[in-house]
Amino acid sequence: MSARPQSVKGTRDLLPPEVEVWARVEETARRVFALYGFGEIRTPIFEETELFARAVGAATDLVGKEMYSFTDKGGRSLTLRPESTAPVCRAYVEHGMHSLPQPVRLFYIGPHFRYERPQRGRYRQFHQIGVEMLGGKPGESDAEVLAVLVRFLRELGFTDLKVLLNTVGDSASRQAYKSKLVDYLRPHAERLSEDSRRRLETNPLRILDTKSREERELLAGAPRLEESLTPASRERFAWVRARLSDLGIPYEIEPRLVRGLDYYTNVVFEIVSEKLGAQDAICGGGAYEGLVEELGGPPTYGVGFAIGEDRLVEVLPESSPARARRPGPVVIRAMVRGGGAVHGGLDVDAADLAEELRSADIPAVSVGAADPKKAHAAADAFDSPVVVIVGSDELQAGTLTLRDTRQRREETMSKPDALARLKALYGR
Ligand code: AMP
Repeated sequence: MSARPQSVKGTRDLLPPEVEVWARVEETARRVFALYGFGEIRTPIFEETELFARAVGAATDLVGKEMYSFTDKGGRSLTLRPESTAPVCRAYVEHGMHSLPQPVRLFYIGPHFRYERPQRGRYRQFHQIGVEMLGGKPGESDAEVLAVLVRFLRELGFTDLKVLLNTVGDSASRQAYKSKLVDYLRPHAERLSEDSRRRLETNPLRILDTKSREERELLAGAPRLEESLTPASRERFAWVRARLSDLGIPYEIEPRLVRGLDYYTNVVFEIVSEKLGAQDAICGGGAYEGLVEELGGPPTYGVGFAIGEDRLVEVLPESSPARARRPGPVVIRAMVRGGGAVHGGLDVDAADLAEELRSADIPAVSVGAADPKKAHAAADAFDSPVVVIVGSDELQAGTLTLRDTRQRREETMSKPDALARLKALYGR
């Protein structure tokens, strides 16, 4: 460690006032999710490593390269959660939630951890807001989860959303497609990156969402996943598309979209923002059919999404209600008229007045016996609409002086009038 400790690479401190925006985003999530009957689940930050290896897939980048795994003092291999679908499904099985009325609708909000190369919009500790709907009907669940997602993003002020939609089919469709894709790519293996060559053996579908131009050109001539869909998968996808149109949810078919985790089947989707450049996805999700069973539960249909909250906050529209700043607290300054030495008791009078305002639900901070410059600097930092000056004269006369920080005007009035004015200002 250097002489002055710093936050770990890929992590960051979120400070006020920005955290207010995060809190507002989370409040909006909680409100909108509740409208659709989703309840909050809080799973542990770490799980057995095996859970992710089994659920997400040992051949995925996420499990193969990106996990924060460690051995604890009891010799267990544990991992900081890199995603939450697996933990939520584990909890669903562990608590017998399959015997509750189905579907079970859950959401989560919290930090996740991946050992990735940090860059704009990509962190090693990042935050996800996600929902999972378990035990519902295929198709209907997909549409409902997309509806809650779009409603949430609209309430945050996004107007030009683009849901990218695709189907990766059921496992029979994927099996059929994988061999066609591998047959097509193998003779061109020398044009593939080292990563893609490895994926040819382990996870060929992932090659489809490559960012390399050369690979994209090569893939332009590849067989299309769509052509390998089983009739059931084809029908399911058509149903979901029709339902989204009924619900007024705009989407675009993106045949290259396959998502990085192994558990997805049939419908997959992403929401992208052009503002983010290379790391453009703010949300990813899809359906999964075998996961709950894989973790020891009954066959269960699941569908969910995860929004990257860090990225979401970065691309929030200027006009988003989550960005509207609340007025900062009243700043209270003590002074003696005439510039004499400030009597120590005035500090306490200012602090008392702050406490009195808080009793009336008016936010307040006291800067004590400070000169005007210091009080104004505090008001600026807090974005306070008003500074209240409590001086020896005011105390004697039972009045207070209110300084409007925007208009830069001072007005002295009786204490009850001042209180009424402040209450109105803060909508109390
Ligand atoms: P995934 O679980 O990979 O589908 O990711 C869902 C969403 O989480 C992505 O669309 C991103 O917005 C966000 N996300 C994933 N990894 C990171 C990361 N390392 N840093 C910031 N956001 C991330």
